[in-house]
Amino acid sequence: MALKPRLEPRQTRVKVIEAALSDQSDTRFWKQTKSTSVHVQQTFSAQLNIFMNRIFAVFASALLIQLVLLSGCSGQPLQIMTVDGFIPAEEMGRTLPHEHILVDFGGGAMAGPHRYDAEDVYRFIFPHLQDVKKAGYATFIECTPAYLGRDAQLFRRLSRATGLNLLTNTGYYGARRDLSVPAHAFEESAQQIAQRWIEEWRNGIDGTTVRPGFIKTAFDRGSVSKIDVKLFEAAAITHLATGLTIATHTVDNLAAVETQLETLKQTGVSPSAWIWVHANRVGSFDGLLPALKAGAWISLDGVRDSTFQIHLDLILEAKRQGYLSQILVSHDAGWYRVGEPKGSPERFRNYLHVTEKLIPTLLEQGLTPEDIHQLETINPQQAFAVRIRKSE
Ligand SMILES: [Zn+2]
Repeated sequence: MALKPRLEPRQTRVKVIEAALSDQSDTRFWKQTKSTSVHVQQTFSAQLNIFMNRIFAVFASALLIQLVLLSGCSGQPLQIMTVDGFIPAEEMGRTLPHEHILVDFGGGAMAGPHRYDAEDVYRFIFPHLQDVKKAGYATFIECTPAYLGRDAQLFRRLSRATGLNLLTNTGYYGARRDLSVPAHAFEESAQQIAQRWIEEWRNGIDGTTVRPGFIKTAFDRGSVSKIDVKLFEAAAITHLATGLTIATHTVDNLAAVETQLETLKQTGVSPSAWIWVHANRVGSFDGLLPALKAGAWISLDGVRDSTFQIHLDLILEAKRQGYLSQILVSHDAGWYRVGEPKGSPERFRNYLHVTEKLIPTLLEQGLTPEDIHQLETINPQQAFAVRIRKSE
């Protein structure tokens, strides 16, 4: 596509650059051409054109990333990286910050698109995402990491078909006895692992132009393991190079929380760049206080009937103690189960409990519409906006 060299309004520039990046996403660029000389010449010139556009897109993209990284400290509007490129954070709208489209717990580090039919997953999940959109949400954050079911191409297709902004991630999943951690992560240093994740941010995931919107890591239950700490260090290094937020599956492992806060301190990353995922499992507000006081994000993301009261109590207490602006609320729901017949529709949990039950109850119990706006719209913008956050 033709790119205008003159400067345009910031947002238009963002869209032009993203469109240029998308143009390079298919394999046509590398395809063999037919062997008649005229055709070869025409194709060569077309390819040269594409090549030049690609070069421009790479430079423009690097420039854009720099602008976004600077935005956190220069009063520029905050930006979010969706599977379809940057959007201004204020366009996120109501957001579900922790959900899943497909998960492959059975694949271990061999999980990948060869283990399922993407068409099946698309058909399975599309109506549920349509329901999310109809319920008034604008953004859906997909938290499944690589080797556990992350499928950038499928996510972008679903995002375009439903009109939902969708975010995916870079990082590895160290929970469930590290079964989904790839072999190279055990051998490499935190710096080398971070380099792989930074590479996804700069050049896209799995050969696509889809870039991660945050970093996902995880800690096992019980004593803190070497590999989980190494992955977290890699996340901190990646944050300092990319500005991506770190979301870590931690559940109620308070020793892991302590280790993570300490690692952030040592690496110079502000706790405001870190989300304690599944913090609702702690059950008591006091258990969350050290992380809240440090400025971290608390993800109360398991909303369902059986845990409803816990979520309600924690949010009401956050309001009472003045921490509502650090709380994220979601279902940790879904999903197509890879390896089970038809993805096990009978085990699927939909994404509507928060809007249908939790929000009305919070309003009944004294939260204001402004509080709800803070929880569903403002907090996700602040948590996921791409910017480097260094500790004071
Ligand atoms: Zn999850």
